[in-house]
Amino acid sequence: MLEKRLRFAPSPTGPLHIGGLRTALYNYVISKNQKGKFILRIEDTDLNRFDKKAEKHINDSLEWCGIIPDESPKNPGKFGPYRQSERKSIYNKHIKKLIENGKAYFAFDSTEALDQARKEKEKKGETFIYNWENREKFQNSLSLDEGTYRKFLEEKNYVIRFKSYDKSFNNDSILIEDQIRGKIKVDLKLLDDKILFKNDSMPTYHLANVIDDHLMKISDVVRGEEWLPSLALHWQLYESFGWNKPNFAHLPLILKPTGKGKLSKRDGQKFGIPVYPISWSDNDITFEGFKEIGFEKEAFINFISMIGWNPGNEKEIFELDELINQFTIERIIKSGAKYDYEKAKWFNIEHIKKISDKILIVELQDEIKERFEDIIDSKKIKNIIEIVRDRVIFRRDIINEIKIIIEYNLLELKENISKINLSKDLIELLVLFKNEIKKNKSTQILKNFYTNKLSQKEIKIGDGMKALRLCISGKVSGADLFSQINFIKNEILIQRINNSLKTINDKNWNS
Ligand code: GLU
Repeated sequence: MLEKRLRFAPSPTGPLHIGGLRTALYNYVISKNQKGKFILRIEDTDLNRFDKKAEKHINDSLEWCGIIPDESPKNPGKFGPYRQSERKSIYNKHIKKLIENGKAYFAFDSTEALDQARKEKEKKGETFIYNWENREKFQNSLSLDEGTYRKFLEEKNYVIRFKSYDKSFNNDSILIEDQIRGKIKVDLKLLDDKILFKNDSMPTYHLANVIDDHLMKISDVVRGEEWLPSLALHWQLYESFGWNKPNFAHLPLILKPTGKGKLSKRDGQKFGIPVYPISWSDNDITFEGFKEIGFEKEAFINFISMIGWNPGNEKEIFELDELINQFTIERIIKSGAKYDYEKAKWFNIEHIKKISDKILIVELQDEIKERFEDIIDSKKIKNIIEIVRDRVIFRRDIINEIKIIIEYNLLELKENISKINLSKDLIELLVLFKNEIKKNKSTQILKNFYTNKLSQKEIKIGDGMKALRLCISGKVSGADLFSQINFIKNEILIQRINNSLKTINDKNWNS
């Protein structure tokens, strides 16, 4: 069987957004699933829109995600060069063939003449297309006599157009095939004679893309739905060259969070959501990427993989290697898929759950010791991480969450006193509890002691817990109270209870 070779072929006209990254990911997992190759080709033929920072952003984004190409400009294989701007001589050779066999022709029309023609059509509410119906009226190598067009050619001010249809064709329609959409019948009479070569002597996307996919032995073209309208032209180009076609699959659009319309780069700012895998700076504005916001790359990939695909069962959490095993083109959906940022966060929470305690402890213990050494018992770092890790969306929030959990806030305490049912019995019990802490008893013994006393004294458990929490943190709600008690140093607990009871007494006295 022929080797599966799939490629990601971005144009470096700006940062890589999540739509592009999804295309790269799907190509990557399909190629790896088939033990094939994943190729990165930079399509930089559009010199006007070229952005020199873009290629680095593409490379860095792929690298962060672990989507590493087998062949690329940085790591060329035997089908190079992998940047289209370095392949000009290849395109020249091929376009000549198309001209020789009458599939393409030179056109010399000025921009003004074309604009004029466009305007006239628009006035009638019609769309201008340059094709079999009107090409005779324009200046091209099909309409002009040879002497005139040779002269034009010498001036080197021409484009080369594809002859999409002509009355001499046997058929006026073709059947093209997409793996997601199925077979599509295309009326050739409605197609435009697209430009294949521009007057800057660079090929357009269409020509370069088809030639490169053929020469790089690409077996499957998986790309965004915006290229589906170009498929008929590409199909015809393959046939004109007499080449076998790859399989095509056009991915559904990624929709805005509202579900209405295609997600655009501008939506990032509009909805306050990331649209780039890693950050991008433009004219002093930096757009934070998923990486900088704090997403686990595994969560990010998982999130992206499910925008437009599902495994056909309930499973939602995937690692990259599981995606490689389970991904199939058949399960890509046809309709657009919504970008749901809340879901992205959910994936992050789920992937944080998969990180072992050990890894988190190694990563965070020094910082925890350094910042909270006075309050936290250093033997309890493991316990605190176990509790806090389930309460955060991002890994980097763990430290902040610890801070919140162990914090003691006198101001809040004062505000909260009136919210608590503090009987004389309860205050006495808090003093007893404090004395038990002094005896260095385990948290479980302390908990039993406290709850038993509450029931002996017929104090409601809710009131008792709230009062204790108030004394320890100043708050009336929060993480599991006895877990907090477990990891805060005994002397700190005692200090806090003393301090709180004093404040409560003062308050009661004053009121
Ligand atoms: N250069 C095109 C793009 O950036 C590639 C389309 C394709 O994969 O054929 O979208």
